[in-house]
Amino acid sequence: MNSLAKVPVTVVTGFLGSGKTTLIQHLLSNAGGKKLAVLVNEFGSEGVDGEILKSCADANCPEENIIELANGCICCTVADDFIPTMEKLLARPVRPDHILIETSGLALPKPLLKAFDWPEIRSRITVDGVIALADAEAVAAGRFAPDPDAVEAQRAADQNLDHETPLSEVFEDQIACADIVLLTKADLAGAAGLEAAKAAIIAEMPRRVPMLPVTDGAIDARVILGLGAAAENDLAARPSHHDGEEEHEHDDFASVVVDLPEVADVDALVASVQKLAREQNVLRAKGYIAVAGKPMRLLLQAVGERVRHQFDKPWGAGHRRSKLVVIGEHGDIDEAAIKAGLGI
Ligand SMILES: [Zn+2]
Ligand SMILES: [Zn+2]
Repeated sequence: MNSLAKVPVTVVTGFLGSGKTTLIQHLLSNAGGKKLAVLVNEFGSEGVDGEILKSCADANCPEENIIELANGCICCTVADDFIPTMEKLLARPVRPDHILIETSGLALPKPLLKAFDWPEIRSRITVDGVIALADAEAVAAGRFAPDPDAVEAQRAADQNLDHETPLSEVFEDQIACADIVLLTKADLAGAAGLEAAKAAIIAEMPRRVPMLPVTDGAIDARVILGLGAAAENDLAARPSHHDGEEEHEHDDFASVVVDLPEVADVDALVASVQKLAREQNVLRAKGYIAVAGKPMRLLLQAVGERVRHQFDKPWGAGHRRSKLVVIGEHGDIDEAAIKAGLGI
């Protein structure tokens, strides 16, 4: 690449559990010889997605090119974390051909896009495209739909207020910023679910952009990389709930990290995670679990009551420690109740 050409950056956004890490894993292993770098941002202090991605580092994307930004949502830490990290990445002797940014599931993409206007990086990178992932089954089930009763109650209290539910607000901001929407977990949603999800998303789009169904992150990299959208020059087309506000907050959501003892019965753990989703509205749980008698660590990921787990690699010496990151709406995160639910 010409050293004066701007490095393209793809922003991957999407709610908690929509499949962002899976998509990026697929891109890393199908990069077509491109040298990639990944910035991965998580809500909460314990990075799990960065670990998952590092376990599939290869020659096109060595481990040092996978950089974790774990001090809160990337949209709020732009000046402190994001810009300096980008500058360091661009100063390396071998520049990446393409940079992927996995935002936290709660991050608002627009404040991040605004950061690309900063003089320190504006001349050197461009936003090639914003890819928004939406869990087709969850969208079809109305999980991100505004709650009509809540909106009505708020309007009755304050005529000027146009707030919806915390989930619908984040979801709409992510869709409104996108150049392409991927309907993930298409296999689980089925044909009718996909149609319902499409209709719900079209209703939120300020402009029509392509929507594609995806299963297990499998999509041709050429479809989503190389869009040349220069999104940093096109902010007006991407409305946000927070346009006109100096600051925004994420205090609608909270996370807690739970240390667990070694687990003897994986099925029992899965059942208690499902029960937390059902009874305490936990949105997302993920982490690495030490299972009695097993040298490998168990990666457990839950989106609501849908729990998946697999052994991914051996524990490093001395690191055998189970931890689970649990995320939900603020009022639902009760640390004592969550620990009790997990039997500790
Ligand atoms: Zn933020
Ligand atoms: Zn707001």
